[in-house]
Amino acid sequence: MNQNIAQSEKQRVAVYCRVSTVLPSQRLSAISQQNHGRNTVLNAPTRELAGIYADSGVSGVSRNGRISLQRMVSDCKAGKIDLVLTKSVSRLARNTTDCLELARTLLTFGVHIVFEKENIRTGSADGELMLSILACFAEEESRSISENLKWGIRKRFASGSYQPSVAPFGYRKSDGRLAIEPEEAAVVRSIFEGLINGTPPHVIAAGLNESRVATRRGAAWSYTQIRSIVNNPVYMGDLLCQKTYTDERFCQRLNRGMLDRYYHENHHEPIVDRKTFALAASVFEQIPCHARTGHPLCGRVVCAVCGCPMFRRQSKGAHTFVCASARRHSAYCHSKPERESTIRAAFLTLLNKLAFSQQYTQGGILNGYIAHIAAQEIGKGDAAAIAAAQERSRMERAALAAEAMAGHNTAQYHDRCRALLAGEERLRREADRLHCCTEQAERLRAFVETWRITGDVADFPDEAFPNLVSQVRLVSGSSATFCFACGLTLTEDITNRATKKEKTGDQKA
Ligand SMILES: [Zn+2]
Repeated sequence: MNQNIAQSEKQRVAVYCRVSTVLPSQRLSAISQQNHGRNTVLNAPTRELAGIYADSGVSGVSRNGRISLQRMVSDCKAGKIDLVLTKSVSRLARNTTDCLELARTLLTFGVHIVFEKENIRTGSADGELMLSILACFAEEESRSISENLKWGIRKRFASGSYQPSVAPFGYRKSDGRLAIEPEEAAVVRSIFEGLINGTPPHVIAAGLNESRVATRRGAAWSYTQIRSIVNNPVYMGDLLCQKTYTDERFCQRLNRGMLDRYYHENHHEPIVDRKTFALAASVFEQIPCHARTGHPLCGRVVCAVCGCPMFRRQSKGAHTFVCASARRHSAYCHSKPERESTIRAAFLTLLNKLAFSQQYTQGGILNGYIAHIAAQEIGKGDAAAIAAAQERSRMERAALAAEAMAGHNTAQYHDRCRALLAGEERLRREADRLHCCTEQAERLRAFVETWRITGDVADFPDEAFPNLVSQVRLVSGSSATFCFACGLTLTEDITNRATKKEKTGDQKA
């Protein structure tokens, strides 16, 4: 290939090399690549070494994260390099697009690349064609290596010999196996104990932050971390493998049943016993979502378009509520994320309206509603009718039981009895609902009567909200329907808010 390089003055040559893992044997490979490159350059009298750029421990799949490569590209741009020398196509890139893109970028700076193994020089007539063919092969090779690695890991998943590459909080890796780390294990135990004793997860997290216990990454504790500890069977000594997987584009994804999952009992020493783990998990399940996170809206907002729950997420510094199915794919639901501040403002407007009608008008919306419930309950004798029906059912059951004991109608006894019990259960629920509605409506009226009309979102009643509202049905960008615990359902328009905000935003810009 030297015949291509005929120059009067010395050519500044850069050597690029890369090894994909940080194994000691591969480190040797890096050194030998570097030495080889250096010798090739220094042996030619027309060349001088512009620098050796080496990346190690980085997979060749993607160009991102290869610091030396990026440095080399910027040096080429700065005109410090005339030619790049590299061992093979697979050393430079393992992805066709990346490789061609890089070669073309360097060509625009007037820099050619020489691939020693394949004897290709970019910029020459057949260089580009050869390169695209070879880069294609290189990508295939990279895929098959990663497939082989995956196959090996899955074999270890299935046989139970797999050990997590990173030990979870509470454990350390010792001789390749999980071993208990006493200080962290004490924290894990205190989390389980706290939950069983009824401490909400967000309070446990705040307590840990107050006593300056750091997470593994040195970050602050939050509800999410407590949840992941309570849900991780690793703490009772079991191991669940293949919770996530890497897709064909090399992105990590949650395994929602696309691949087999492997579960191994008694895989390592547990931090809590099985009874404690199960108890904490069931307690956690029973805590309503807003009480787990300490956030009044969490677990209450539902997408009115598809009926799925909406989750609170942070994006660009603001909190939004996102439809769970829309987030998975826009084909499932076309709902757009809605700002939390919009929902809060809508509820404040609603409260202000209720308070205004209650405090400044004769009658009042809630008075009317309570009178309506009361009319249903007392005026039309519903509650009395329910009580009478309950009594009749009980008497019929007693009569049936007496007959059955005397040896009559035994065949029909069970069927008839079951039907009567089901009917009684229905009546009981009906009576409860009537009673509950009145009580809840009275509570809402008491709250509204003391509500001071406000336009400030900071005045949102964080504490009272979960007791007053059972659900918020949201049509993003259009309306928010608040379902009160007393059965009252009121809708507030949110289209104006969005346009108003856009308008003020435009004015600022
Ligand atoms: Zn939806």
